[in-house]
Amino acid sequence: MKKIVPNYYSKFKCIADKCRHSCCVGWEIDIDERSYDFYKAVGGEFGKKLKSNISLEDGTAHFILGDKERGPFLMENGLCELFINLGEDKLCDICTMHPRFVNYLSDREEIGLGLTCEEASRLILSEKDKFSLISSGKNEGEALNDDEREILSFRELCIHTVTDRSKGIKERLAILLSLPDYCMVPDLNIKYWAEEYLKLERLDAAWGEILEKLKAFKGDLPYEDILTEFETEFEQLTVYFIYRYLIKAAEDYLTAEYLQFTFISVFMIAKVLALIKAEKGVVKRENLFEIARIYSSEIEYSDENLENLLDIFSEMNF
Ligand code: SF4
Repeated sequence: MKKIVPNYYSKFKCIADKCRHSCCVGWEIDIDERSYDFYKAVGGEFGKKLKSNISLEDGTAHFILGDKERGPFLMENGLCELFINLGEDKLCDICTMHPRFVNYLSDREEIGLGLTCEEASRLILSEKDKFSLISSGKNEGEALNDDEREILSFRELCIHTVTDRSKGIKERLAILLSLPDYCMVPDLNIKYWAEEYLKLERLDAAWGEILEKLKAFKGDLPYEDILTEFETEFEQLTVYFIYRYLIKAAEDYLTAEYLQFTFISVFMIAKVLALIKAEKGVVKRENLFEIARIYSSEIEYSDENLENLLDIFSEMNF
């Protein structure tokens, strides 16, 4: 199968014990059947520990989270006991894949890195080269269907628009929203959006506190200055959302909604940085990496939250 990855993809390496927001904390990880069958057969002391930390619910096995929602094999030094005892190739599918995502098309797999991982966030947003895609493998599947072909060509136009460095990022974002023929430009009222985001499912209390501050802030939070200050970073952020989501429109036809979601995600993240600047007098790239990570965990990794936001945009366009 043909595989497509972004230009920065091969540079990713999990930072394991140096990670401050390990994906082994707070996530209940389902175990695929192949790995579960293997884990059931592991003997010795580690085999006993392995089995006692797996629960089976409705036919699906998952690891039982321990104290403070830590994965049962996450050691104090941040390394993985399962990895050490059984080897990398015995990690279950989810642990092997994370933080990668895959979109399947008729003739290819499009793979990317998710911003929810702090190292992926740093890597994606600090990439200086323009976004491009690298293809490998043979095309053994069917040919692309008409919807896929159409949306891929539209996505190319969107990415070309956002990476056109002859224009300022704010102008590029405005052009982006004018590309579909029925896309309402969302009202950029931060109090409204903070309230809408506060209605969504909450995974991290820190995100709720940020939203409350945005809602209560008196005065201006000039997000345009932030876009300009971190122009390349916001270009990468915008392209990340386009690459990850727009292709889904080949199935659900939510082309405008995915672009509005991209636009509002960039707006929200820029507004949070403007808030940090208003509070502390300075904002750094590290703040951007961190806010993008929290945003991604809260919104992208909750199907419910993503659907609710897309519904808001669909109603707007109706
Ligand atoms: S969040 Fe990313 S860097 Fe951290 S442990 Fe997971 S994969 Fe590694």
